[in-house]
Amino acid sequence: MPLFCRAAGKQPAGPPGRRARPRLEELEERWVPYAASGNAWPHPELITLSFVPDGTLMASGSGGSVYSNMFSKFNGRWAAAQWQAEVVKAAQVWAQYANINFDVVGDNGTTSGQGGYQQGDPGMGDLRISGYGFSSNYLALGYLPPPGNNYSVGGDIALNTNVAYNIGSTYDLQTVALHEIGHALGLLHSTLRTADMYPIYAGAFSELTTDDISGIRAIYGARQPDAREGLLGNDTFLTAYSLTSQINATTKAAQVGNLDITTTSDVDCFSFVAPAGSSGTMTVSVQSAGLSLLRPDLSVYDALGNMLAWNYASDTYDGSTVTLTVSGVSAGQTYYVQVMGADTTAFGTGKYALTVNLGTGAMPAVSLPNTLTANGAVLSGSGGLANFTGNLDTMAANAKVERLTNRLEQLWNNLSSHGSQQGATQPLPAPVLSALLNGDVSLSHLTRLLVQQLGGVSNLTLQDAAMITWFVWDAKKDGFSWY
Ligand SMILES: [Zn+2]
Repeated sequence: MPLFCRAAGKQPAGPPGRRARPRLEELEERWVPYAASGNAWPHPELITLSFVPDGTLMASGSGGSVYSNMFSKFNGRWAAAQWQAEVVKAAQVWAQYANINFDVVGDNGTTSGQGGYQQGDPGMGDLRISGYGFSSNYLALGYLPPPGNNYSVGGDIALNTNVAYNIGSTYDLQTVALHEIGHALGLLHSTLRTADMYPIYAGAFSELTTDDISGIRAIYGARQPDAREGLLGNDTFLTAYSLTSQINATTKAAQVGNLDITTTSDVDCFSFVAPAGSSGTMTVSVQSAGLSLLRPDLSVYDALGNMLAWNYASDTYDGSTVTLTVSGVSAGQTYYVQVMGADTTAFGTGKYALTVNLGTGAMPAVSLPNTLTANGAVLSGSGGLANFTGNLDTMAANAKVERLTNRLEQLWNNLSSHGSQQGATQPLPAPVLSALLNGDVSLSHLTRLLVQQLGGVSNLTLQDAAMITWFVWDAKKDGFSWY
């Protein structure tokens, strides 16, 4: 993962004759600190999130098999609903500012990376949240979305269950989830020290910085007002969107989808005239379940503005449906419906559908987005087993480890024997990443693994050897040693 080289200007010049480094070129062209990867969900209108059950196979390698143990680790600290809410809050903080929606779904425990779909798999979330123990130098890892990872592993996140997570203090679970979900949505690291997407943990965050907001909007755009807002917005009864013409003559029901509470101050108003043949009782329903994480607040008024019914969803972290029933409905009378967020948190925004039923039949079902997208040709591994390749990203617990990771990645991208990769920053090869995540910071081990990837010492040029020496010299300044 292109971990931006924050210390680039402070490092000594490399050996003479080194090739241009793609990363430095990128740096010169930057206008803003955030960095978008060029990857994005094909169906941002609904991105699902699931919690991987314990015992799910996460990775297999020479060191054996690794299984998720997130529930047993975190349930020992908090109620399941509490720690899961921290992760869901992190997702919704991103959704609040961009043209995306989340839904929490179940997870069937399929081996990591083995699902059949890039997005919309009925058995698991697009973002699968798991956890297992790796080196305490790293807090979590995450995969970029398609097309970079064009199979089930895209967007998946693993939390390091060896880390002593906390809620509200170091290491704050929501903060780490916020950073990794940023990657899972397509953002790379920001060079801005205060941004959530800065690659080193720097205190608890529960909001995005303007840099993070600019980044997520560069990928998905800002959250857009729905089409029923009209030129003036439908925030008041005076500018209410009329449903009258949409009421079905037979069923006396109307349904409008693709509605959106776009900001925490957005209010959507609708009006209608009860048609002849109305039953005398009407049911009004707002559904965000399966559409977004919005907590709706719904109220119904008569023509004079008297409230007839009111209810709202509170403290839910997974969308909901709020339904009101009003009796004494008179044909020919005007009624108003008002929808807004139940609170001013990020959960006060999101997509929803509105249904009004003045007849005696069943409420028409809301159709949910179909985001099903089959796997692309697998980029690495057979069958797509997650094996620490393909845009894996990590959030480092400290600056020295982050610098070591950056320097290793620079070295890998600049070894001349690796010339076929020129022009694109390549992630570190799987054995090197595995070693890092396992806490192996021995410079001799790490450089030997890199050289092995190139086919051995005999394939190295003198210039490669000089660059390895330079890497070792540089890393030793941070206290890493050759052992
Ligand atoms: Zn990161």
